[in-house]
Amino acid sequence: MTNIIDGRLIAANIRNELKEKIAGLAKAPCLAIILAGNDEPSLIYVRNKKKAAAEIGVQTKFFHLAEDISEENLLALIDKLNNDENTNGIIVQLPLPEHLNTHKIINRIAPQKDVDGFHPYNTGMLQNNQTPYFIAATPLGIMRLVQSVCSDLSGKNVVIIGASLIVGRPLATLMLNQECTVTITHIHTKNIKELTQKADILVAACGVANLVQEDWIKSGAILIDVGINRCNGKICGDIDFKAVQNKAAAITPVPGGVGPMTIAMLLKNTVDAYELQLSSAKIGNIF
Ligand code: NAD
Repeated sequence: MTNIIDGRLIAANIRNELKEKIAGLAKAPCLAIILAGNDEPSLIYVRNKKKAAAEIGVQTKFFHLAEDISEENLLALIDKLNNDENTNGIIVQLPLPEHLNTHKIINRIAPQKDVDGFHPYNTGMLQNNQTPYFIAATPLGIMRLVQSVCSDLSGKNVVIIGASLIVGRPLATLMLNQECTVTITHIHTKNIKELTQKADILVAACGVANLVQEDWIKSGAILIDVGINRCNGKICGDIDFKAVQNKAAAITPVPGGVGPMTIAMLLKNTVDAYELQLSSAKIGNIF
């Protein structure tokens, strides 16, 4: 019997724990969300983040900037928020309009407020197997989902389809840090199927609807589907759920798997940022 990993339930439990914690804090943790332009999916993601934050008592400040905002003005806003002691976390919704240099913008966020975990300080610390301030929310959520069905990851063969900076790469590092044997595949990888067939844990994060079929997986594998694709008016993942569901040991559904975890972990990072800055302010090494 395949175990359907209930991301909604696991995320709800995390949000409830956070809500209780926030109720005991002196003030509400505050997340600044910056969106440049009107990219349709980004507007939906931002709305979901704001709603989830409000439900547990995280305050949000939303900066909805014009599509043609200059780099200089956007950097100035980040500087202001970096120095604002009432702002604990800062995220810049991606993708940015093409005239903006994404690396330059992300690198300007103070690492101690980079609750998306995209700043090179945070990615570098993760890579070094040291403790970053923050780890990107989606891979962090994926680790929780995997650990809900597999307590000992040591020695597991992990194959990740997709090598993006926000999912595939940090996830590969997290898995490696848990002593897994990790293979990252991408659009130029040859014979992906031969690699995925050996995976004890297969993570699909490429944005190709129903790419992973029954003959791509090993019997008893744990499958994590990160993809969000539109298929005939519905949302579907990168794994053909129906085709694989009787062969896998466990699988995340789309929707209701990784998506809710991403938001829950972003909120957790924001609460962690509040606590980090409180303790740093006490010893006087921030602001
Ligand atoms: P991306 O476009 O930045 O990266 C995609 C990666 O997949 C690249 O490394 C590319 O080489 C690889 N790829 C593309 N086609 C492939 C193919 N046919 N075979 C093998 N590899 C292939 O994407 P991303 O931002 O990492 O997002 C990937 C998917 O995950 C998207 O569907 C996105 O919507 C979804 N996503 C979901 C969440 C969530 O919270 N559920 C979070 C982030 C991304």
